[in-house]
Formats: sequence, C-alpha cells, structure tokens
Amino acid sequence: MLIRRLPTSERVVALTFDACQTLKPAGYAPQIIATLRKERIPATLFLGGRWMEWHADITKNLAHDPLFEIGTHSYLHPHFPKLTEKQMRADLEKTLAVHQKLTGRKPKAFRPPYGEHNPLTVKVAESYGLTSVLWDVETGDPDPGVSATEIVREVFRQTKPGSIIIQHMNGRGWHSPEALPELIAGLRKRGYRFVYVSAMNRPV
Ligand SMILES: [Zn+2]
Repeated sequence: MLIRRLPTSERVVALTFDACQTLKPAGYAPQIIATLRKERIPATLFLGGRWMEWHADITKNLAHDPLFEIGTHSYLHPHFPKLTEKQMRADLEKTLAVHQKLTGRKPKAFRPPYGEHNPLTVKVAESYGLTSVLWDVETGDPDPGVSATEIVREVFRQTKPGSIIIQHMNGRGWHSPEALPELIAGLRKRGYRFVYVSAMNRPV
C-alpha cells in the first residue's frame, strides 16, 4: 500500500519528520523534538538505519516515548527505483535489523528516500509489513532559502483533512525548528488535531 494522505474527512493531520542519512554524518535537530514534547504533539519520525546507528542513544530515547511513532527511511537512502529487487531487500533487511535492535519493534511505515517509488518498491516494502508513506504537504525545508514564515504559510495553504506533512529533523530542515511552534498553533487554531501516520489503520 502507498498513501499520500490519511483516508479521513476529519480535521486530523500527520506531522512527519525524516532523518535522512548520507555518506557524511547527518545531524539532529533537538529543538523539533523539544517542541513536540512541550506541546504534546504526536508525530511520525522516519529514521534512516544508518542515522539510527549514528544516533543510537537518541533513537532509543525517541522509541521509548509514546508520543512518537518510528517509521523507517531505508538504511542508506538509495534511489529505490534504480535498485534491483535483491538490492532493495538487502537495504530494507539491514535497516529493519537496526530498527529492531535499537527500538525493540518493527516499523509499519516506510518513507521511500526522495519519495521515489514504483510498483515494485511498494510491493517489496509491503512484503515486510511496511506501508509506503508519501505526503501531500511539502514544506520545502531542505532548501536553506525557505524561511520559517514561508514554511508556515505553505503548510496553512496546503493542509486539508488527513494531510501528511513532510519536514526534516536531521538538521537539514533548515528553518523547520523555528517554524514548528507557529505551525502547531496555527493548525490547532484551524481545528486540526495531530495523529500518527499509522492512524490510517485504525479509527481516528
Ligand atoms: Zn530522506
């Protein structure tokens, strides 16, 4: 299964934060987690396998907090449609092993790196019990030129019931930490409440 939005007409929204890993160590934006905790906002975090290894203590801490659902973002952030099925499976199996070791659980949600997918990537992910999760609200936060004000404006403009919003928590969602408090306040004011992505599998 592949989803871009939660199947609901209720005013719910899923905040998602990717922790992408690259050849160089990717960082961590603790302000995002601090804001989510302060405001008691549930969120789905898509952590890359290698990112989890580089941030093992942080990963364990996040996994123990019921506020967060931990999804996977692959091990090495490859372009999945360019891989053979064997390569896809090797990457996913590696990341699932890391996930199990550090969180004690299996993820249900998979964010394909770069959002790149095809029927085979979706099918392979599904064979591990993973729903491929895209998004319908893009903040543009990987661009350092996109300001906090612009992020907030875009989210308010694009969000509708069931929207899945993508941001980054690896330090490369440049202005997302700054934008988050206003974004949460504004969505609340518009009557939205916040759910995990996996809320799609149960009544919300
Ligand atoms: Zn990514």
